[in-house]
Amino acid sequence: MNNPFDISGLVVVVTGAAGVLAGQTARHLAEQGATVALLDLNKEKLDARVAEFQKDGLKASGHVSNVLSEEILAKTCEEVLALHGHVDVLINGAGGNMPGATIPPEKTIFDLKVEDWDKVLALNLKGSLLPSMAFGKAMLQSPNKCSIVNFSSMAATRMITRVLGYSNAKAGIDNLTRWMAMEFARTSGDKIRVNAVAPGFFIGDQNRGLLINPDGSLTERSHKVINQTPMGRFGESPEVPGTIHYLISPAASFVTGQIVAIDGGFSIFSGV
Ligand code: NAD
Repeated sequence: MNNPFDISGLVVVVTGAAGVLAGQTARHLAEQGATVALLDLNKEKLDARVAEFQKDGLKASGHVSNVLSEEILAKTCEEVLALHGHVDVLINGAGGNMPGATIPPEKTIFDLKVEDWDKVLALNLKGSLLPSMAFGKAMLQSPNKCSIVNFSSMAATRMITRVLGYSNAKAGIDNLTRWMAMEFARTSGDKIRVNAVAPGFFIGDQNRGLLINPDGSLTERSHKVINQTPMGRFGESPEVPGTIHYLISPAASFVTGQIVAIDGGFSIFSGV
């Protein structure tokens, strides 16, 4: 009997794969038998991660790349095709926040560093659009059914204090996901599906300072998050890859344009 979750024949490209959630995702998909091409700007972190994968017998290759450069992405796509023959899945994992695009407690919107706001918008939004264009074109030549998964966030739909640039960028990701889903479905039927995951609160390098005090205790902000989360805890990074596995598998063959929350109920809770 066919396994609707079988992804073993797929070549999966993961951007930002030296990072926390994107790295966990790359690992999970490789463990499920996919061939994974890991892309990141940071060569040192990338090399270390690819070495771990290869030591554990996983099918993986590493590619230093930049999601903000059409030229570099085109070269990376050629490299991946030369090594693996086709591209079936793109996980747009490169993304994140930066302090200048955030409003600290004692500041207001008038203190925003607009250049940092631009950078956060570019990394998250343009940094998902350009790889989708580069690898989407290659997907049209693949013998397999293909898909793209973007990373949204709770900040896209629930207004979360301070994180202005990041929220604006992730709202753009939701729109880009739906727009690309419509476009690919209209122009290529079910050849390329496009979905997104919206992780709730996971402690990572970008938000550790906001959620954990230097002494390791939870900040006041953390307590607010936990109180708003019916499951009463933060997410753990292995909880993201399973949802992505489903979204890229044949089991989700009629699912496109969806943004799936992985948030312990944060987004559906009234707080009462
Ligand atoms: P991370 O910060 O751990 O890793 C991001 C990676 O992207 C880094 O390895 C970095 O080197 C790489 N990168 C940065 N600029 C790049 C560029 N121009 N080209 C290529 N690579 C580049 O992030 P993560 O925790 O793995 O998050 C993955 C995605 O999930 C991001 O979009 C993030 O915004 C989103 N997200 C994270 C959380 C969370 O709580 N951690 C919650 C919601 C959404």
